[in-house]
Amino acid sequence: MRDQTGREIDYMRISITDRCNLRCKYCMPDGIQCMPRWEILSLEELEAIAVCAADLGIRKIKVTGGEPLVRRDCPQLVRMLKNVPGIEKVTLTTNGVLLEQYLGELLNAGLDAVNISLDTLDPGLYETITGADALDKVLGIISRADRLPIPVKVNAVSIDFDNWKDGKERDKNGWRAMAALAEQYPVDVRFIEMMPIGYGKQFQGIDHRTLLLQLKEMYPDLETDHEVHGFGPAVYYKSQRFKGSIGLISAIHGKFCSSCNRVRLTAQGYLKNCLCYEDGVDLKQVLREEISRPEKESHFIWPEGLDVRDEGIQSRLRTVMEKTILKKPMAHCFETPGRITESHNMSSIGG
Ligand code: SAM
Ligand code: SF4
Repeated sequence: MRDQTGREIDYMRISITDRCNLRCKYCMPDGIQCMPRWEILSLEELEAIAVCAADLGIRKIKVTGGEPLVRRDCPQLVRMLKNVPGIEKVTLTTNGVLLEQYLGELLNAGLDAVNISLDTLDPGLYETITGADALDKVLGIISRADRLPIPVKVNAVSIDFDNWKDGKERDKNGWRAMAALAEQYPVDVRFIEMMPIGYGKQFQGIDHRTLLLQLKEMYPDLETDHEVHGFGPAVYYKSQRFKGSIGLISAIHGKFCSSCNRVRLTAQGYLKNCLCYEDGVDLKQVLREEISRPEKESHFIWPEGLDVRDEGIQSRLRTVMEKTILKKPMAHCFETPGRITESHNMSSIGG
């Protein structure tokens, strides 16, 4: 469907959990409270929303989190989404730690592509950022990218490690090593500007206008790659030296709102239009109108027997989803932080 400014909205990011097996300092540092499981949507509830979303014109879905692979039914969920009429592509964003374990099941389920988040190739710094000694596992999968039947992208948040005051490790010009992954492997290495959402507010990011100049020094033949690489806002660059490419996702210094095609479903079932603003609609409430919350978390069971294609449910969802998407704001306001109304963490929003 089109929103009030005429943008075609055909892409939905779904965060399926706010839990994670890493503790990235800018996203979900140690000590953060996760939501009771009851607050997270069940597979059937996600299906009901996906059916309605497809009916409204959503064609591509990104499964994210928290870490989507800590939810054991993730492959089942991918299969379910692939079977929703109208959904053309289902992709996954993961920290890669559990990817080897689930890869076979995910491929069988029909996964179309995977994005692996990795910010540094320095083992000490990786551990300082994520709280885990898992760099080898993540690199193991990336190094097999040429033998995988689906495209692999690597997502690195552009953190200014040279000026990072946290921890003693330093990764002098760490982005250079990350960029060089595109020389070694057939992967798109995408740098993401740090956004002032949740704990990200406390970190100094690299301005992508500067990063691009430095990349051009490193690769003098770097030129814009006009080929379509996915359905996101990255601007891609190629060099003779690359097997893959480099992409810049410059939410702050390269505003791409006029071509924004996405909405987000948070882990607690809240449909939101823009990372910057909290405005949206609580779809979980719509789905659980007549269901009461268990008294104790230990009594947790997800509501059962939901008929996902029930006309009443689909019509209620459609009314609120359509109304919400129509009102998608024209642009984010990261450049004026006082106007940001989003107070949730990236781990529940899904990045
Ligand atoms: N756990 C999965 C992963 O790490 O890919 C999926 C969820 S994570 C929230 C999705 C993406 O958001 C990751 O690439 C992460 O680096 C990015 N992210 C988290 N906080 C961010 C921030 N403040 N600014 C920009 N990107 C952020
Ligand atoms: Fe977990 Fe991904 Fe957030 Fe890191 S960025 S804490 S891996 S959800």
